[in-house]
Amino acid sequence: MEFSKSRDLFTKALKFIPGGVHSPVRSFKGLHTTPVFIKRAQGAYLYDVDGNNYIDFCMSFGPLILGHGHPRVAEQISSAITRGWSYGCAEEYSLELAEYIIKRIPFIEQIRFVNSGTEAVMTAIRLARGFTAREKIIKFNGCYHGHMDGLLIKAGSGVRQVAEASSKGVPAGVAQDTLVFELGDVESLREIFNTSGDKIAAVIIEPLPANCGLLIQSADFLLELRKLTAKHGALLIFDEVISGFRIGFGGMSELLNASSDSKIIPDIVTYGKIIGGGLPVGAVAAKKKIMELLAPVGEVYQAGTLSANPLAMVAGLSTLKELTPDFYNFLQARSKKITTILNNFISKTLAGNITNFESLFWIAPSQSSESLVKITSADKIPSNISENFYIIFKALLERGVYLAPNAYEVGFISGAHDDTVIADLEKRLLY
Ligand SMILES: *Cc1c(COP(=O)(O)O)cnc(C)c1O
Repeated sequence: MEFSKSRDLFTKALKFIPGGVHSPVRSFKGLHTTPVFIKRAQGAYLYDVDGNNYIDFCMSFGPLILGHGHPRVAEQISSAITRGWSYGCAEEYSLELAEYIIKRIPFIEQIRFVNSGTEAVMTAIRLARGFTAREKIIKFNGCYHGHMDGLLIKAGSGVRQVAEASSKGVPAGVAQDTLVFELGDVESLREIFNTSGDKIAAVIIEPLPANCGLLIQSADFLLELRKLTAKHGALLIFDEVISGFRIGFGGMSELLNASSDSKIIPDIVTYGKIIGGGLPVGAVAAKKKIMELLAPVGEVYQAGTLSANPLAMVAGLSTLKELTPDFYNFLQARSKKITTILNNFISKTLAGNITNFESLFWIAPSQSSESLVKITSADKIPSNISENFYIIFKALLERGVYLAPNAYEVGFISGAHDDTVIADLEKRLLY
């Protein structure tokens, strides 16, 4: 494979753009190579500037559950563009999307659209603080909630429960209001709620943590969070920016309540990624009594010049309309086939094996013990994981298979990964 045009573009990009990219993970940092520059994409395939093509398992990091350039979504966007692409006024496109979602997700009553997952989370946190008149937030090590100051926090190395910012530029005064725990650590959570429960505004969690590997949580743990927050008057925020509309239409919230007797219903839920079908949309949703704290009704301020952009609303709605129960069944069946094929390749030739949940997968570090113990918290991920991943990533890239370029990212399977693509994948991995 020839990458010379991509290399030239990256050299130029480094001059004009910090690190050559607009989001750090795109830079292939730590992978001992430079990024491929994509010219176009269709279905399950990416096409780069050097004329190579790849079966894409990154899918724009999740939004493209139908694959690239889905014809019915394309048609809706093309038609919308003839009506103008931003009004800054009340319009019915966002209303249609809001109604479509709320009618299918029973525990939410109102929704507000923003431009990204980060914005959705930022609004959710402000709402929770406004609702409870409390300031502390609990988050979990390994859960990513976008790049707002108060959530770029890692567990402190020194004194227990004293958090540190994971980024420069986050004021210590902001960091101190976020408490960080390991996923599954019920004991510490009980302790903090017992000692300072009246200061905690919310617990935020990815109910299916998928930004630091794929750390599948037990329903028992999530139920415990629900009980603790309810008992102490804190809100439970499910960040479903990845899992929403992917693990079934209603995301993990729906799945959890389909399979367990005790209800694990979040107070606030955040969406992003799939909700805009690949255009920039995020959303925060909850019961009316929480949502109506937002301006202009209530006193929690939130706004956006381009929020509920009509093109993005139409892209989102036409994407969501494809997500029938049959669609999810197909997606899951294909995901099983694909992850089996990938797993055979990876485990035979290289170190690692695949953890799969619905249409998400993660190349977990291979474990030395005979019985595979699933990793369910970030502190159990070996620190040298990137070394093995680089070997796997390179081997796949050279065979025309594109993974998200980082060991901690998950893989995404879309509706475009059909049987023809699966046959092509098998062929590409023969060599
Ligand atoms: C991607 C992601 C975000 C951030 O969304 P952006 O649109 O990138 O700002 C927040 N939370 C979760 C769980 C995510 O996966």
